[in-house]
Amino acid sequence: MSVLNPEFIYFDLDDTLLNHKKAEQYGLADVHNHFEVFTEIPLEALVSTYHHINKGLWEEYGQGQIDRHILHRRRFEETFEELGVDTTLYQEAGQVYMNYYRNHWEWIDGGKEAYEKIASKYPVGIITNGFAETQWMKIEQFGFKESAKQIIISEEVGVMKPHKKIFDHATELAGVPRDKILYVGDSITSDVKGGINAGWKVAWYKSNPTELEALLPHLVFDDFEKLLEALM
Ligand SMILES: [Mg+2]
Repeated sequence: MSVLNPEFIYFDLDDTLLNHKKAEQYGLADVHNHFEVFTEIPLEALVSTYHHINKGLWEEYGQGQIDRHILHRRRFEETFEELGVDTTLYQEAGQVYMNYYRNHWEWIDGGKEAYEKIASKYPVGIITNGFAETQWMKIEQFGFKESAKQIIISEEVGVMKPHKKIFDHATELAGVPRDKILYVGDSITSDVKGGINAGWKVAWYKSNPTELEALLPHLVFDDFEKLLEALM
């Protein structure tokens, strides 16, 4: 029996079990190669501009100020505008990016083995901030539909983590007391603070956290072996 002693374990998806950052990086590199307008523009400029614009739009989306269609449109339209390239390409760029992004989906190092071992011992679930259409594709592709007892996607609940409503909903679905739920995630705000505020235990997937941040979760790990040691 471990100190965490959970009766239900939820996992975050992007950058906890699946490597979203890498897929995004490779997807943007493919977009850069795909369009001739980028010949004179370095990949780094596309990546940093896109990140900056996408982050701001996700904040607006999280606060309910824009919907996902507007986010999808504006993230390439505004990136192209800022880089001074033909903004009429934004629609094509959005589609091209999604196709490339999908091709680069893969597990985080050690994530598959750890998830499968944990899922064979505990009931597990997924909670992810993201668009239902995209996240369901990931869930099917990586077999979570078969292994996870509960799958919760922010777009379907109507609020994003760290909103308490999504954690309360997940608590109800898990059917165990709050303090018997463990959340495994990589984001200090969405996952760690969201989980703690919901009365859950939290395992934070993070390298080199600040001392202050590291006080919040019940476990910090940067290698899935460490999570397995605490749970198996
Ligand atoms: Mg994440």
